[in-house]
Amino acid sequence: MAQQHDLTAPPAADAADGRTTESTAFRSALDVIRGVEPRVADAIAAELTDQREMLKLIASENYASPAVLLAMGNWFSDKYAEGTVGRRFYAGCRNVDTVESLAAEHAKSVFGAAHAYAQPHSGIDANLVAFWAVLSQRVEAPALAEAGVRQVNDLSEQDWAKLRAAFGNQRMLGMSLDAGGHLTHGFRPNISGKMFDQRSYGTDPRTGLVDYDALRASAREFRPLIIVAGYSAYPRLVNFRIMREIADEVGATLMVDMAHFAGLVAGKVLTGDFDPVPHANIVTTTTHKSLRGPRGGMVLCDDTLAEHVDRGCPMVLGGPLPHVMAAKAVALAEAARPEFRSYAQAIVDNSRALAEGLLKRGAKLVTGGTDNHLVLIDVSSYGLTGRQAEAALLESGIVTNRNSVPQDPNGAWYTSGIRIGTPALTTRGLGTAEMDEIADLIDAVLSGTSAAPAAKGGLSKANYVLADGLAERIAGQAADLVAGFPLYPAIDLG
Ligand SMILES: *Cc1c(COP(=O)(O)O)cnc(C)c1O
Repeated sequence: MAQQHDLTAPPAADAADGRTTESTAFRSALDVIRGVEPRVADAIAAELTDQREMLKLIASENYASPAVLLAMGNWFSDKYAEGTVGRRFYAGCRNVDTVESLAAEHAKSVFGAAHAYAQPHSGIDANLVAFWAVLSQRVEAPALAEAGVRQVNDLSEQDWAKLRAAFGNQRMLGMSLDAGGHLTHGFRPNISGKMFDQRSYGTDPRTGLVDYDALRASAREFRPLIIVAGYSAYPRLVNFRIMREIADEVGATLMVDMAHFAGLVAGKVLTGDFDPVPHANIVTTTTHKSLRGPRGGMVLCDDTLAEHVDRGCPMVLGGPLPHVMAAKAVALAEAARPEFRSYAQAIVDNSRALAEGLLKRGAKLVTGGTDNHLVLIDVSSYGLTGRQAEAALLESGIVTNRNSVPQDPNGAWYTSGIRIGTPALTTRGLGTAEMDEIADLIDAVLSGTSAAPAAKGGLSKANYVLADGLAERIAGQAADLVAGFPLYPAIDLG
């Protein structure tokens, strides 16, 4: 019997009609919605079917528990609660105070943080709160008006330069995108790249690992205000003790964005030098990736930054989402349980098994393997772009996403990589034996796909040709595999 990591999977029907409590709850909710807009109820039900049938290897996705899902669907959604616990701009917030305090208390205890701010609506919002907090802590009297800037929306490049000058030309050093960093770590399409002068650090081309010596040299020369650690597509661990040493040496604030691996931190798989919380000045995260909560964000920090972080709303955030904070509190209560540790460990065991399965079949992996929840396949050895590989896998029932590899010759759109991650399938209960099967399916699809640059439709790099019948055969095997691990076993909408 597979180990179920769905923490709330109840074994038996528990009502007179033979239904589980969860089935009754979700069926009733859908009935109520169906009475107003049946197409929405149908779409919600259809999404459950899709999720159940998908072999989901998207490294940033997961399956939240029924308790987390249900905590979001209620009248907390009706409440305005700008401000912080006990200091609101609106009356009548005592119950919001309760859930926001619970979310913060659970977060502090799970992560061992001095302060937690549970309001950010997403990971990007959490980063904005953090950037603002660091700037307002470090920069005296930010002279927006003095710089002659009124309408932030209409800023030209010159205006941005003026604004940065008013902030003292603050600098940010973040991991480069193709090494696995995130857009919000100082890149142009994001506000962080406009607020800060940015420089990036990368990985050693020989090993694929973060090059701390190069990072230190760059930090000494560049003297950033903020060093951002954290990633979306780096398959190894980051040594946050070394990162903090470097930050201290150059007078920078160390910010760690643990959006992807927060679940591994909560589950005590990442400890010591690899646990960001004791080393960073400020930590941001999403709550919906490996942490397995509702879609949202959070900020953890030391006491010196707390008052600045708490100004997140209304400084950079709209009104908090009390229903989502309620669900964050539930998810963090789950993360405090011993089962969460075995789930977190199983994520990494599965990721390693998947990497080994791929390597032994001849695949090329960035850094040659993994130490966390994700694996980055360099599909150029199959003669494919990331886009071709992603499409061929999807046609074969395997959901992944394409991703750049370091120094990617195919750029950020076509890419040369496929990123896969194990949190979702681990929640579902799949183990290392299944990971080997999945490696076999992936290798079969990639080996059986060829680039077809001259196919009709022109020279699009997205064109590919799958061997006859391969997609159907693999999709069947993938469906059989997941069918053995029922998703949300307690929920029957039938
Ligand atoms: C996913 C991710 C984010 C963004 O999270 P959203 O909730 O989508 O805004 C930010 N930083 C990193 C490192 C991420 O992986």
